[in-house]
Amino acid sequence: MHVRMRTSLGLLWIAACRPGGDAPSAETGPPAVETAASESESEQDERPLVVVLWATDTLSARAALDGGLCGTFQAAAAGIGEVACLPGAVSPATSTSYTHARLLWPTHRVGLERRYSRPDCVAPSVLGVVASALHASITWGSDNPTFEAYPTVCDGVTTPWSWEADEPFLYDGATVLSVEEAQRPGRLAIEAVLDHARRGEPVVAYVNDYEVGGHMPRCWYDPEFPACAELFALAVASGVYPADGVARDFWLDNAAFDDLIEVVDGQSAADAAVSRALMYDTIVRQVEHYGATRTGPRFATLIQGLADAGVADRSLVVVFGDHGETPCVRHPLDGVLRCQHGSMPTEWTAQVPVAVYPASAASAWESAGLVASDGAPWSTTNLAYALVSAVGGERPTDWPAPEPIGRATSWVCGNDAGALFVSGSAAVSCTASGCGTYGWALPDGPDAVTVPVSPTPPELLPYTDGAWLSEACAL
Ligand SMILES: [Zn+2]
Repeated sequence: MHVRMRTSLGLLWIAACRPGGDAPSAETGPPAVETAASESESEQDERPLVVVLWATDTLSARAALDGGLCGTFQAAAAGIGEVACLPGAVSPATSTSYTHARLLWPTHRVGLERRYSRPDCVAPSVLGVVASALHASITWGSDNPTFEAYPTVCDGVTTPWSWEADEPFLYDGATVLSVEEAQRPGRLAIEAVLDHARRGEPVVAYVNDYEVGGHMPRCWYDPEFPACAELFALAVASGVYPADGVARDFWLDNAAFDDLIEVVDGQSAADAAVSRALMYDTIVRQVEHYGATRTGPRFATLIQGLADAGVADRSLVVVFGDHGETPCVRHPLDGVLRCQHGSMPTEWTAQVPVAVYPASAASAWESAGLVASDGAPWSTTNLAYALVSAVGGERPTDWPAPEPIGRATSWVCGNDAGALFVSGSAAVSCTASGCGTYGWALPDGPDAVTVPVSPTPPELLPYTDGAWLSEACAL
């Protein structure tokens, strides 16, 4: 088996990186707000001209670290500025739709809206709040087709979802290969941001960079990579794929991959340990692949373009993982083998990377108690508050308070509901059938197993009966 050398400390992710990013298609911004009479020109000049919120869709903190993505960002911004890569970030959910609803609409963290996987479009999103403060237009570019459904949900309501609907970008194993980078919504968004920057026009952008951290399909771009080849050999040997089948076709066939997971589920502990290591290597390989061919170049294009436009020092770029991917780990709470992301948040899927350009912005947000750089858990939902403060905007009164540093929550509702409540170095994990308390350390390699913690720390005791999950999801 081919287990790679891994750094044992997530703290390397703290190191300064450097940024980049772009925005796609929408040009219909929120209605411009009249400039307040008291707002001086000098105050306006100190505000960002460009704000980019960039989701690396499906990327765990562990995989980002092992795949060297922070260093990729650093190299892209060399000579232009510093990027802070913050450890400890916790996603509010472990599937795309729930996460983005809560990140972009903080109102979705309280009351009935806690169980919604899609925005109800009643309140403005953080993009709308920031755009209003900057009198900016909004650009939206998502490579993840999940968001194609949102404009319908928000039809007729002035939210970024309806402003910025992309052309349908249907994703399957064939189209993933057929769409050139130059036509992808995420890339188009970056180009649009740079167009605004060159004209000196304020712009707020959302960029979605899909599959970066191990989302299927994997390996199709490099089926001869040792871990990919060995897992394909397992698929053939176990009869889930024909011996004369083509490896690249196997990796583009999600149903065949699901069959392979069933094979791993039935393996002995020793054989499964080998398969876990191989699965994790395919994930790290994917981070490296997209880091070199898409995410890294996009970041470099954005940052260099902002520098060329003379606005690098008036730009703010936040790159975050919306959730991670699990490399075939059996959680002790329910014994379920998880080889992708799923409903129950774990240290694999809820711990995500966050990179901030310029690093000084991250420092200011840390001083304000919104983010942390020392490894303490903090919720990525706090980024909405950070962005609003960075542009001098007014926090909507119906937003709940930010989650305090050292604590974070993550939950997914629906048929396979799961939740976790993190405090310090421990977390209560719950499914609909029960809860347990486990260590929250970043897993070190694919063989790491979540360790039960006993006794449960006092601050977590109120969450061990699962009532919080039941209430949030109306179970
Ligand atoms: Zn996602």
